[in-house]
Amino acid sequence: MSGEWLITSHDDLTRVVEGQIVPDEALFAELQAKHLLMADQKRSTLAPILSQYRTRKSYLEHGPSLHIFVVSLRCHHTCAYCQVSRQPQANSGYDMPANASLKAVERLFEWPSKTLTVEFQGGEPLLHFGRIRALVEAIEKRNKYENRDIQFVIASTLHDLTDEQLAFMKGHRFQLSTSLDGPEWLHNANRPRPERDSYRRTLEGIERGRKVLGEHAVSALTTLTKRSLEAPEAIVEEYKKQGFHSIFLRPLSPYGFALKTANRNGYPIEDFLRFYAAALDHILAMNRSGYVMEEIYAGLLLSQLLSPFSHGYVDLRSPTGAGLGAVVYDYDGKVYPSDEARMLAAMGDHSFVLGHVDQPISEWLNSPAMAQILQAGVAEALPTCADCAYVSMCGADPVDHYARQHDVIGHRPSSDFCRKQMGMFDHLLERWDKSSLIEKRILESWALRVASRAPQAEAA
Ligand code: SF4
Repeated sequence: MSGEWLITSHDDLTRVVEGQIVPDEALFAELQAKHLLMADQKRSTLAPILSQYRTRKSYLEHGPSLHIFVVSLRCHHTCAYCQVSRQPQANSGYDMPANASLKAVERLFEWPSKTLTVEFQGGEPLLHFGRIRALVEAIEKRNKYENRDIQFVIASTLHDLTDEQLAFMKGHRFQLSTSLDGPEWLHNANRPRPERDSYRRTLEGIERGRKVLGEHAVSALTTLTKRSLEAPEAIVEEYKKQGFHSIFLRPLSPYGFALKTANRNGYPIEDFLRFYAAALDHILAMNRSGYVMEEIYAGLLLSQLLSPFSHGYVDLRSPTGAGLGAVVYDYDGKVYPSDEARMLAAMGDHSFVLGHVDQPISEWLNSPAMAQILQAGVAEALPTCADCAYVSMCGADPVDHYARQHDVIGHRPSSDFCRKQMGMFDHLLERWDKSSLIEKRILESWALRVASRAPQAEAA
């Protein structure tokens, strides 16, 4: 219930299940210490389990702290796997107008969280930097008497990043998050532009961002297409070559607009898991040879396996992070509980629109969309999850299941979300079990870094 676990032989497990284990065995004491077995009901207490449980779910105390502002749908890329409804660069009708943005700022401060991450997304948000500037100024003005701890983030290709924009960001505590898919051939194949210069321009943007904002203010994410799965080592090496010390290996989400190209870019989750195992081995070897590199997703799951702390990552929460951990303010004033919900609406399915920035947040929370999300948003109460060994460390993702299986509750045995989670937990536990002491230290350090950032460690 609280996420304690133990690796044991199958024979020992059978003896435990059949009640053959006796109190003077070492295994008995170990199971008791981890609250997996209770010897004497009168002398036992649930207090330690409840305390761990409360700590693990502590993200519930704060309300949403990740607030995504979609300032423009315009983009100069035509990435085949893009889920969002990007618009050509000249289509200015898809920019967030001033009135919607000011209403969104009012709503932002209706949420109770003391820590707010305000992330600007698109399309390409830098194409509408004037709105970002106005939003930051309005938020900071209001925050003079709200006193929240606010972090600004831009998720951008970083192409066309100007000195003026960087100077503004430097004065306002900005982080840059960009996409680097691997070596030049792979990045340019994934992110086509007529000039085939996406890789070069991204690297220039990273360099300029680091110079002005500092090394740690720029991070990169990788999106994995079918082509990427052939190159686990090359992708990891590229991150090292560019001086990064963390990498986030995320499989594609083959729905929304990405469905149209799923045959070309998509892959079965088993292929991703094979890729992941090879990449993880390479990352561990890199760390052993002295270069520090952390795999973020492993860090998130290991933080659940190796510590009682919550991670705050919105896609892996139960109750779900959709609407409870994150809110998306779209360019036209509509509000969604997640980016996937926004993408579904762009495809014509408005099931998960929470409301509009003109309404108070109480109306969003009482919306039919939120009711639908909440009824399927607690993993501990979902079929299959309820009986799963990993449930205390896993999450519920009703919007993902709706998008892939047309049902918010979904069917775990055929769910890619579940196959990925179960495959990752299985692999990390097996890898942990056969790890050397040095490798265990490395894996532990990733888990502790995630735990030390919680609950502020929100990520989209
Ligand atoms: S691994 Fe699958 S069955 Fe287990 S809790 Fe996660 S989603 Fe549910």
